[in-house]
Amino acid sequence: MYDSIETADRAELRDHQSERLRSVLERAYESVPFYRDRLERAGIQPGSIDDIDAIERLPLTTSDAFRSSYPDGLFAVEWDDIQRIHASSGTTGRPKIVGYTEDDLDRWGAVMARSLVAAGVSADDIVQNAYGYGLFTGGLGFHDGGEALGATVIPVGGGNTARQIDFLRELESDALACTPSYCLYLAEALNERGVAPSSLALSTVLIGAEPFTEPLREAIEARLDVTAIDVYGLSEIIGPGVSIECSHQNGLHIWEDHFYPEIIDPETGAVLPEGETGELVLTTITKAAQPVLRYRTGDITSLTRERCACGRTHARMAPITGRTDDLLIIRGVNVYPSQIEDALLAVNAVAPHYRIDCHRDDQLDRLTITVERTSDQSEPVASIEADIRTELSRALELTPDEIDVVAPGTIERTETGKVQRVFDHRNGDP
Ligand SMILES: [Zn+2]
Repeated sequence: MYDSIETADRAELRDHQSERLRSVLERAYESVPFYRDRLERAGIQPGSIDDIDAIERLPLTTSDAFRSSYPDGLFAVEWDDIQRIHASSGTTGRPKIVGYTEDDLDRWGAVMARSLVAAGVSADDIVQNAYGYGLFTGGLGFHDGGEALGATVIPVGGGNTARQIDFLRELESDALACTPSYCLYLAEALNERGVAPSSLALSTVLIGAEPFTEPLREAIEARLDVTAIDVYGLSEIIGPGVSIECSHQNGLHIWEDHFYPEIIDPETGAVLPEGETGELVLTTITKAAQPVLRYRTGDITSLTRERCACGRTHARMAPITGRTDDLLIIRGVNVYPSQIEDALLAVNAVAPHYRIDCHRDDQLDRLTITVERTSDQSEPVASIEADIRTELSRALELTPDEIDVVAPGTIERTETGKVQRVFDHRNGDP
């Protein structure tokens, strides 16, 4: 453990949370007109909330708050006290600006250091950081966390695969932080260069920033000969370091002394009981520069507060299976892309590279799935196609109009940034 609070009993944790909620509410009310308005309209005085359970009474916040308050309307401190800015790009409109005070940066480094330890990384290890540096929080988040832990950090940044491989071999990095799609890219690049993953010191990859399914994780672990640890975070809350899996890989521990989690029904906004699947809502209970109250993350998951075998008591969230805004409605059937991924990767001859295209022709939705086969050529295309159809209809009652089984290496790879696998041409995707 990095911090004794990780194993604190739940009652102690709740006392912390209640106290910190009172304080963040007071600061938001005093310093952020956006929150004062919303709280007043909801008839809530900061002093009237004294227990973490009462958090349900507070209004929810959506990503629109960041855009409508652009650039600094959600700041609770003066610009003098802001030490760093990050921003999430967002595909449309203004970026979401996030600010950090010096204390916020220290807290972020500490939760990231804690996360790395939970993932099995130690101060003696070398962490190769292949997340993008810059406004995106991935690069500097892992960087600062690695340094706070006392590990050695190699700030390679995204892409630059030849150098990544040289460093993995020659500097003997123990851990690699990158997206899951980059892990797959790297595995292919190692293979092309004739480098056996088992010959590397690399034992852990820290993967996040893109949703992925269990079969995709298994493919990464097998191809890179590593343990793949799921990391979760978002810029609006802090960046990476909101939650992470421990070595048991049975859910991501949310650092509840800083980020209070709830699960809501995305339709009604009602809080769901423990164990039910819905949208993750987070409240920052320690952030100074820009506190966020009940933020709708858009990420679909469930929570458990059972103590983990590792001894940590902080709630665990299930790996993210999709986002509320990822939902595809195809001829009236609701499908998350991750469910399609799950079904595709259940077929042995299918490699973890695919794309999903949705069109609308004459008012009719059309679904095309393009998948790569593995390099094993023994199975005929027709039988792979039939297996895919069976899996999709069994798991999702979904019948694609077209399934294209293509040769290995055909589908475009992502060397930097986040992979795009879904192209919904009905919504204007090119
Ligand atoms: Zn654990």
